[in-house]
Amino acid sequence: MHVLVLGSGQLARMMSLAGAPLNIEISAFDVNSKNVVHPLTQAVIGHGLEQAIEKADVITAEFEHIPHDVLAVCERSGKFLPSTDSIKAGGDRRLEKALLDNAGVRNAKYTVINTREDFDTAIAHVGIPMVLKSALGGYDGKGQWRLKNAEDAEKIWPEMAECIAASNNQAIVAEEFVPFDREVSLVGARSKNGEVAVYPLAENVHVNGVLSLSTAIDAPELQEQAKEMFAAVANSLDYVGVLALEFFDVQGTLLVNEIAPRVHNSGHWTQQGAETCQFENHLRAVCGMPLGSTNLVRETSMINILGEDSLPESLLAMEGCHIHWYGKEKRPGRKMGHINVTADYHGELVRKLCELAEVLDPVAFPAVQEVAKQFKS
Ligand code: ATP
Ligand code: MG
Repeated sequence: MHVLVLGSGQLARMMSLAGAPLNIEISAFDVNSKNVVHPLTQAVIGHGLEQAIEKADVITAEFEHIPHDVLAVCERSGKFLPSTDSIKAGGDRRLEKALLDNAGVRNAKYTVINTREDFDTAIAHVGIPMVLKSALGGYDGKGQWRLKNAEDAEKIWPEMAECIAASNNQAIVAEEFVPFDREVSLVGARSKNGEVAVYPLAENVHVNGVLSLSTAIDAPELQEQAKEMFAAVANSLDYVGVLALEFFDVQGTLLVNEIAPRVHNSGHWTQQGAETCQFENHLRAVCGMPLGSTNLVRETSMINILGEDSLPESLLAMEGCHIHWYGKEKRPGRKMGHINVTADYHGELVRKLCELAEVLDPVAFPAVQEVAKQFKS
């Protein structure tokens, strides 16, 4: 089987690693350079999309911000999965919100802003405090504003107007501020014949809008809610592949924050913590193979490595500590890799996180410090 992945980042890389034992070969299409590259070495192995499509048995994507002309060509080949509509919905908050509403899935109240008048309507309808997010191109908390009081509307409007004017079809989605207790996400897979398998929920800690720490949790009531919403969204899209839903947990009730039509950062823990990792399950689904078990095999946390390209080698001596580098050039804040830490029971996992907090730079790994601080208090 040969799978072409749109996008050539770490997610394509990890799909490639997970696909090898099943004889699934991956090539990656870099949408910027238009080169086809090897997902591990980034060596150029072909040029142009048409030829790459020809060679592929299946085409999929590792991210949602893909030019629509590229999606259209892939769609015409009849080889693209999950579906171009799913990718478009993941890349446009207006479509995403409409999708959630149509699937009957709880999400934060919102309106769409194109003009200054729309902003006033949003303030009246959604209320303050509110979160404002660009409809297109947002990730890792970028393209967002917070409005905490009405007087600040004048101050942030010029920036919002500039964002709307800067690109075609751009708008701002105004959302009510959700006073959540915590953020969780559900990663799962849906097969060609409609079978759904979800992983245990992960609890996620974001720092400055970027995921820092993700831990698989055992929360049966939330799991049930999340699974139901997952099935509603996945079935409404006739989805094939791995899909992620991010939630706000508000006193035991889940609201969907956003969806990601792909393998997801909060599912990286499955590489060590689940019977079958999310990357393998995505490939199994899009290649029409049976899904693998999503059962938890070990308590696991995933720690993102942001803006750092080396770690003390002594970390590898810790039992259950696994480092995954992405082979990327170092830039401030960039996702460079992640650490998966496993344990036999939850208390041991917390102890290991405390141990890591002693070794890891507190500025680069704030969420681990927080765990250690809470544990000590
Ligand atoms: P991602 O990298 O996950 O795609 P993103 O840039 O698409 O991020 P969101 O996930 O929508 O953005 O928002 C980033 C973070 O901001 C959320 O994880 C959450 O902590 C906070 N946030 C977003 N929307 C709201 C809201 N309506 N109320 C409260 N906090 C919010
Ligand atoms: Mg998010």
